[in-house]
Amino acid sequence: MTNFTNPYKKGVIIIIRKKPYALQYLEALSRRVPEDYKLTKELMNELRNRESGYIGEKNMDFYVARLPFQHTYLIDLYLPSLGLTQIDGLLIFEQFILVLESKHISGVVSYNPSTRHLIREYANQVTHFSDPIAQAEFAAVQVQKMLSKVTDKEIVVEHLALLTSKHCVVTSELPENICRVEHLYQKVMSYLVKHKDKLILNESEIKASLLQLNRPFENNLSNAFPIDPQNLRKGIICPLCKKIVKQIPYKIYQCNSCDNSEDNLFLLAIKDYALLIDKQPINLHLRQFLQIPCRSKFRRTLQKYNVPKTGHSHATRVNLTQLLKL
Ligand SMILES: [Zn+2]
Repeated sequence: MTNFTNPYKKGVIIIIRKKPYALQYLEALSRRVPEDYKLTKELMNELRNRESGYIGEKNMDFYVARLPFQHTYLIDLYLPSLGLTQIDGLLIFEQFILVLESKHISGVVSYNPSTRHLIREYANQVTHFSDPIAQAEFAAVQVQKMLSKVTDKEIVVEHLALLTSKHCVVTSELPENICRVEHLYQKVMSYLVKHKDKLILNESEIKASLLQLNRPFENNLSNAFPIDPQNLRKGIICPLCKKIVKQIPYKIYQCNSCDNSEDNLFLLAIKDYALLIDKQPINLHLRQFLQIPCRSKFRRTLQKYNVPKTGHSHATRVNLTQLLKL
């Protein structure tokens, strides 16, 4: 998560959402599994779902950043209540808190209030999605419960599900707690009017309390998609065409299949190793995995990233943990 000052509202910080660890893991795995991997179809489905979720959340952040009201925005919270409650976005205003749930669904969408399902018609297929309002409401109740333990003040926690896809056509009337993301401004306005007489919250105190409760979360996807590291595809792999890059001595890494000459092909390959095998590998094992024959070229390229090292000669280890945050 990176922050910078919001040009639309002085004093408000814009949040830059980083690619979630789970998505990075699935992308790395999709490049590295062999052609005959049994779970390829499930892996690609999971990858598409996570990519779509990430795009939706970034779209939500875009509209939050344009809100012309004083607020504090927190993203990707994992609060320890009934297991871990995940919250896509949470806005703290002076009068109330708003929990946001992003739903990135493309196609013709309607809401059935009696069954509380979101129904999507797309490519001649009808899909029923679980109720995003209920998800947002559940998260809001957990936030209220947790804050009641750290403050005596009665805090209003509203909840709102946002349809974040630009390719979503809504054909039914929507209940109060769900709307297209473009209408976030109007919804926030209505909540501000509704709660204008509520007590003034200390945004920074609430932010500090919630961040203290927040737990780091790493999906254990290696259980869902097991693979022996020996069977992973080795070498430097092009992220566009997924072909192994032919390495030419004294030349930069360049894909011969699609002309992708990204400077970060090497960086991406060592990140793959960190995500899928080991975050603190022995140098030699990493070089063998990348199939770089020239030791000095490997060392020179690695030096660009200031990777911390421990140990000597064949037992030298590098710590790739920080690289995963780039
Ligand atoms: Zn390529």
